Amino acid sequence: GAELDQLNDIAIKAENIKFKYNFDLPYVLNDVSFEIKKGEYVTVIGHNGSGKSTLSKLLIGALQPESGHLSLFGNYVTIDTLDQARRFLGIVFQNPDNQFIGSSVEADIAFGLENKRVEPKLMHDQIYQAAKKVGMENFLDKEPLMLSGGQKQRVAIASVLALSPEILIFDEATSMLDPKGNREVKEIMVDLRDNMGKTVISITHDMDEILNADKVIVMNKGQMVKFGTPEEVLKEKEFLRSIKLDVPFLSLVEEALEKEGIKIKHSNTMDELVSQIC
Ligand code: ADP
Repeated sequence: GAELDQLNDIAIKAENIKFKYNFDLPYVLNDVSFEIKKGEYVTVIGHNGSGKSTLSKLLIGALQPESGHLSLFGNYVTIDTLDQARRFLGIVFQNPDNQFIGSSVEADIAFGLENKRVEPKLMHDQIYQAAKKVGMENFLDKEPLMLSGGQKQRVAIASVLALSPEILIFDEATSMLDPKGNREVKEIMVDLRDNMGKTVISITHDMDEILNADKVIVMNKGQMVKFGTPEEVLKEKEFLRSIKLDVPFLSLVEEALEKEGIKIKHSNTMDELVSQIC
């Protein structure tokens, strides 16, 4: 197969992607185009059935577009380069319990590395380093099923990180977690961007999460109806509501304050907001 290189800084470029599951069904993705730069954190939001999961399956090469192109770092993804392209990407799924195969955290993280034929001598160190990145290095001998939801997802992230992908995709990875687990995983997503230089794409129902992102892709009925910064997207509250999306709690507070005639700048955290009014 052809070699893939980092030819430019555009981690993912989607050009006019069209996809349907069957010839007599409507398009599930209809002419979707966007660019995600290396090191960006992008959230994908949209009502159920808007095409988010299908998009993530196309990105990881589990489905092929009917027409249009995907490129990773300037390389077109084709059938010939698909295996290589997959090495650029790692994915973390919704249900942490479906992601375990090993009897220990270490065995789980080892699984992907064994498939990569890493030298046994180097294996433990690589596992330890991956676990450390998600704060799970002291759990290597624990049984995965005994962990909390948040810890399980952190191990799933470590398993992906051990393979050193440039891009991590999270497909509703926080939606089954309790608030603590949710926070833990969201902190890691930010850390992946800020301290590990990774490109993060997170498909989410959690409208508060979009405040952590650099860009937001808004999907509706198979189309990308908006692509911008959280601030740009949140300006259009009525539009979001019209496509059945909730507005983040923080934005609701901002909106209420504005109604009271209190002028404030867009904030990404409650602390930022409070500091403007106190
Ligand atoms: P989302 O992740 O935004 O909820 P999906 O990508 O799962 O959306 O689904 C988009 C549309 O594609 C929906 O109408 C869904 O019913 C349809 N769909 C999803 N998977 C399949 C499949 N395997 N076969 C046929 N239709 C599917």
